Amino acid sequence: MTAQLIDGNALSKTLRADVAVRAAALTARGHQPGLAVVLVGDNPASEVYVRNKVKACHDNGLHSVMDRFPATLAEHELLAHIAKLNADPAIHGILVQLPLPAHIDSHKVIEAIAPEKDVDGFHVANAGALMTGKPLFRPCTPYGVMKMFEAHGIGLQGANAVVIGRSNIVGKPMALLLLEAGATVTICHSKTRDIGHHTRAADVIVAATGRRNILTADMVKPGATVIDVGMNRNEEGKLCGDVDFAGVREVAGYITPVPGGVGPMTITMLLVNTIEAAERAAQA
Ligand code: NAP
Repeated sequence: MTAQLIDGNALSKTLRADVAVRAAALTARGHQPGLAVVLVGDNPASEVYVRNKVKACHDNGLHSVMDRFPATLAEHELLAHIAKLNADPAIHGILVQLPLPAHIDSHKVIEAIAPEKDVDGFHVANAGALMTGKPLFRPCTPYGVMKMFEAHGIGLQGANAVVIGRSNIVGKPMALLLLEAGATVTICHSKTRDIGHHTRAADVIVAATGRRNILTADMVKPGATVIDVGMNRNEEGKLCGDVDFAGVREVAGYITPVPGGVGPMTITMLLVNTIEAAERAAQA
């Protein structure tokens, strides 16, 4: 069996077309959705992510500002800038690109973002809302994965789901969204004794560790759905995921490629969250 590919680029295109329609409708009513992306320092990977996010906004009719600061920026100056964005009616979403320089407490910075503008969904108020089943914003990467299940009619109710990774950004919210959808969820992490024992019983596996080949064909039940969130570089410097793609695709029912899988969905869901924030603000 060769797995069916879940194409994140194609699904993103469809979802972004809907974003553009909603952005145009809001703009026509005088409420153009706006996203502020804040970058501190000159981490090259962060620069690429930020540029892609700003471009995606422009391509789909959202207003976007990119606020760049040197790595020497003091924490209190960053907090003051966020307070300004919180009060700006043209800005509906605020994203602070992580990681921040070591002298800045990223937890403090995220908590300074107004929860109704926290389009990444990382603020404790939004994490708590997600946990209680009443999410305001779903964190973009797991939200994108949920859209992939939906688009391919992959049933989650009663499914055994395994999430490998327990970060606040991907693993934990992914597990909560799967739970909300009715799956029986197991979370594996670096201390899990035998990951394969769990994954072999899974209908759905989401790998989000940043470790190459964390999931191999012998760990996958035939026909299972495998979602690869990981972003790594192989020996040749090429982008690859956490999953042994060549082996696992011969066993799985559905699989996401890297690149072209979850990556484009993350930016798409950032646009969706910003539109939702702007629609709420327009109603208020
Ligand atoms: P993270 O904060 O470093 O968390 C990694 C998680 O993986 C941790 O929970 C860790 O367990 C677990 N882990 C590490 N080694 C493991 C092992 N050998 N066996 C089992 N679990 C292991 O990373 P993250 O932010 O969640 O990101 C994970 C990956 O997804 C990275 O490659 C990142 O670049 C990628 N990512 C991609 C997108 C996208 O749009 N495609 C978005 C976000 C992240 P412990 O908690 O026990 O340490």
